[in-house]
Amino acid sequence: MSRVVSFGSVNVDHVGYLSQDRIAVLADAHGWFPDAGETVRVDAVPAAVRDDLTETFLGGKGANQAVAAAAAGADASLLGCVGEDEAEHAVVETLAERGVTVDGLERVDAPTGYAAIVVDETAENRIAIVAGANGRVTPAYARRHADRLRDADCLLLQNELPAAASLAALDELSAAGRRPTVVYDPAPADGAERVLAHDAVDVVTPNESEAAALAELLADFDGTVVRTLGARGVAVETVDDSFHVDSPTVDAVDTTGAGDVFAGYLAAALGDGAALRAAVERAAVAAALSTTAEGVQTAVPARTRVLDEIR
Ligand code: ADP
Repeated sequence: MSRVVSFGSVNVDHVGYLSQDRIAVLADAHGWFPDAGETVRVDAVPAAVRDDLTETFLGGKGANQAVAAAAAGADASLLGCVGEDEAEHAVVETLAERGVTVDGLERVDAPTGYAAIVVDETAENRIAIVAGANGRVTPAYARRHADRLRDADCLLLQNELPAAASLAALDELSAAGRRPTVVYDPAPADGAERVLAHDAVDVVTPNESEAAALAELLADFDGTVVRTLGARGVAVETVDDSFHVDSPTVDAVDTTGAGDVFAGYLAAALGDGAALRAAVERAAVAAALSTTAEGVQTAVPARTRVLDEIR
């Protein structure tokens, strides 16, 4: 069983399934709204928008990817911070129920992370994130958990923690003899440059908008670039090879977090020593299946279902 550690964010996702007309009304009223497919960081979400977000799911890229790795059969743990608030109990309990080891999570004096997610009738999402406790994860936290980080077969990082904390985690690995394969999801793209430039990053998994935003750095990246292209599948470029993997055709109802399911499944397979192409194929099937149900963690398919689909 591969050991996968996700060092990342935990959020409570507040989701609204809204028409594009309603989204236009909200955007007009607030003079602001994320674009389709976009994730932005904000200090607060306007109350009127919150009122339209009637469903609550546990999320955050760090937590989502840990849940996906657990569903894929890995021994998955999550490192990061949550608040000392009402949300925290539900978060920790639910993650444990989903098979994620949570004993490394620390509680800090800030609210548990919050995300406002709006999904329209074309299954496109618009996301605004309030960092809260995720913004309190420090380099010292990474050093306290250095043993857990080094012991992993695969380490998942995303760009929802302060870059200094992710960089400190990578520095701990650089000092170690045996080290995990590091998969970095540069999402959201804004501010991903420094982590992407660290030598310890082996695989990077941008979606199309992230790949466009980080094009120059990706061209110089000397590891493996795995571009996820939504329904069009995945384009992989290693130092000496490139290939495309198709996604199965599915009836997508909510594509939110498909990239997280992809990353978690990819990490579990790579951690297990799977070949890159086989790992990407498995991750693409898992991610496609996850778009056929609402939510992210609640939509992660079990390993057996993914393997049945491949057969
Ligand atoms: P993100 O969720 O990070 O924006 P993508 O939209 O590229 O990333 O989705 C990640 C992966 O999920 C894709 O490479 C693909 O394998 C799968 N996927 C996403 N949307 C669809 C879809 N509509 N149909 C089939 N597969 C999909």
